[in-house]
Amino acid sequence: EVKSDLYCTQQEDVQQLLKPRRKFSHKGTYGHALLLCGGYGKIGAAVLAARACLRSGIGLLTVQVPQAGYPILQTAVPEAMTLTDKNRKHLSELPQEMEKYSVIGIGPGIGTERVTKTTIGQLLATASFPIVIDADAINLIASSEKLKGQLYKRKLIFTPHPKEFERLVGKVKNDYDRLQHLREFCLEYGCYVILKGSHTAVGTPEGKVYFNTTGNPGLATGGTGDVLTGIITALVGQQYTLEEACRIGVFVHGLAADLALQTIGEISMTASDVIDSLPSAFLHLT
Ligand code: AMP
Ligand code: MG
Repeated sequence: EVKSDLYCTQQEDVQQLLKPRRKFSHKGTYGHALLLCGGYGKIGAAVLAARACLRSGIGLLTVQVPQAGYPILQTAVPEAMTLTDKNRKHLSELPQEMEKYSVIGIGPGIGTERVTKTTIGQLLATASFPIVIDADAINLIASSEKLKGQLYKRKLIFTPHPKEFERLVGKVKNDYDRLQHLREFCLEYGCYVILKGSHTAVGTPEGKVYFNTTGNPGLATGGTGDVLTGIITALVGQQYTLEEACRIGVFVHGLAADLALQTIGEISMTASDVIDSLPSAFLHLT
């Protein structure tokens, strides 16, 4: 009998994977994340990712936003340290002292300016720590063979929705075809892919696929993907393996939405409601 490489992530799995916080730990124990998110008109993406990251246990968080986002970020997320890009509207440079971060989350709200594409090239060329790649960072990489060539031998997690996934791998014929492309992409680049949707699937470099078992259509609203980016970034920063971070992250994200369903309902649910339910979701699992 051939061993199947398709799995489900269930509540028991996540309960076993989650590590309790240690008594003699401090903020340095739980990692320092850097989020490169937000652009003019989409600073909210950075706010959502940052708030979700903080609610998912990260020790320290720095967010770099374009100048226009500085007062917004500092006001909306006082727990985050904020750096500003020299550019007023777009991501155009990497922060100094990159070596102090344990993980980077990049993409939500950054837009697809040329200068942003160049900056992603610089990031892939220099970063030794894991990178969570979402939204327009995926779109920019998908549009550049040069950037795709820089993906090898890196610790990467991509978090595409189906359209972003197609930009990355080409047109997909059906669900089975999508699964094949997921496996092939992960094998080719040695990376992890969280293929989002009603049944989110996590692909690994070994060719395994984990289907998630939480979540509901209340998540079909702007900003919920940015929340997932924040959660996954926080878990990687806390030294979970990339596979663990992907599986725990999508499960908790969906569970938070399932808990929000009870008081908010699927019609009124917003991305902020999902963040507000993260504490209940983590409590539910520990
Ligand atoms: P994004 O498109 O980047 O904002 O991400 C949307 C998020 O919501 C992903 O985590 C999806 O898995 C989730 N999502 C969207 N629609 C549904 C749905 N109908 N059922 C469950 N989850 C969903
Ligand atoms: Mg998104």
